[in-house]
Amino acid sequence: MKCTIQECNGEYEERYISQVFTRQGVSVVIERIPALVCNFCGDTILQWETTERLWEVLEAKAKPERFLPAYTYQALNS
Ligand SMILES: [Zn+2]
Repeated sequence: MKCTIQECNGEYEERYISQVFTRQGVSVVIERIPALVCNFCGDTILQWETTERLWEVLEAKAKPERFLPAYTYQALNS
């Protein structure tokens, strides 16, 4: 499918992306989200069902599968 961004000639490809969400002030990472990503400009489209599912997961406060190291940029420079 051709990219919907004006003047971009890229094509959307099926990929898995990682996204950081904020839940009650805390960052939550969800990995391997199926998405369509433009191979030129990077524009990303999520299916409606995927978006709904993400909201369900974030609302449900599901137990994390694992924990990741997290840093703030400012802390890295001090
Ligand atoms: Zn594009």
